[in-house]
Amino acid sequence: MGRKFFVGGNWKCNGTNEEVKKIVSTLNGAEVPSEDVVEVVVSPPFVFLPVVKSLLRSDFYVAAQNCWVRKGGAFTGEVSAEMLINLDIPWVILGHSERRALLNESNEFVGDKVAYALSQGLKVIACVGETLEQRESGSTLEVVAAQTKAIADQVTNWANVVIAYEPVWAIGTGKVASPAQAQEVHQDLRKWLADNVSAEVSSTTRIIYGGSVNGANCQVLAGQPDVDGFLVGGASLKPEFVDIINSAS
Ligand code: PGA
Repeated sequence: MGRKFFVGGNWKCNGTNEEVKKIVSTLNGAEVPSEDVVEVVVSPPFVFLPVVKSLLRSDFYVAAQNCWVRKGGAFTGEVSAEMLINLDIPWVILGHSERRALLNESNEFVGDKVAYALSQGLKVIACVGETLEQRESGSTLEVVAAQTKAIADQVTNWANVVIAYEPVWAIGTGKVASPAQAQEVHQDLRKWLADNVSAEVSSTTRIIYGGSVNGANCQVLAGQPDVDGFLVGGASLKPEFVDIINSAS
C-alpha cells in the first residue's frame, strides 16, 4: 500500500504577521520524522502565503485555503490557481465545509474547482463530511459518497489528491470522532473508490481525518488502518501540532 502519512495544518482566517512568524519558528525548530515518513503541509491565509513559504523549513510545504474555479480574470476578490503556481505554492485545500456551508459551495462547484486546480498543476486536499443532522438520520455514507462522486467525476489522475474526511459536527467543536467512527467512514470511502474508480486508486489515495484533532487524541486515530493522517484546524496554531506530526511514527 505505502500511503505516506499526511498532516495538514489549516490555519483558517487566523493570525497576524507576528503570530504566523512565531508559528513558523516553532515548526522550524521541531524534531519530526523525515519527509519519507510524513508529509507536512501548512495552510495560512492567502496574504501570509509568501512570508510563510519564505521562512518555512524546506521539508514542510504550504497550501492555499481556496482558489478560483477557472482561469483568473475579471473576478474581484478571487485568487487563481495560476497565481498559486506562479508563487510556487504546491497545495490547495478545496471544498472545506465552512466554505460549503457559508459560501454555498455545491458538490459540483467543488468538483469543478478540484479539476481546474489539478489541471494547473496544484495538489489538492479535497474535503468531504456530513453534518450532525445527516449523521443522525443515517445518511453519512450517502452524503460523503455524493461529495466524493462530484470530485471523482472530474478527476483523472488521483496521484495529486488527498481526501480529507471532516465530519462537520466535529470541526471546531472539541467533539472528535471516535477512532471507530473515523475508521468506519474512511473504510467506506476507500470501498467507494474501489467500486467507482479503481482498486489502485482505492489503495493508494490518502484519506485523512479532520475535526477536533489534538495532541491527546491523534495517536489512537492514527492507529486506525484507513486513517492516513490529519487535517488540523485549531491545534495547528499551537505547539501541539508537532505532537500530531509525530503521531506518524
Ligand atoms: P478543527 O478544524 O481541528 O479546529 O476542528 C479542522 C478543519 O476544519 O480542518
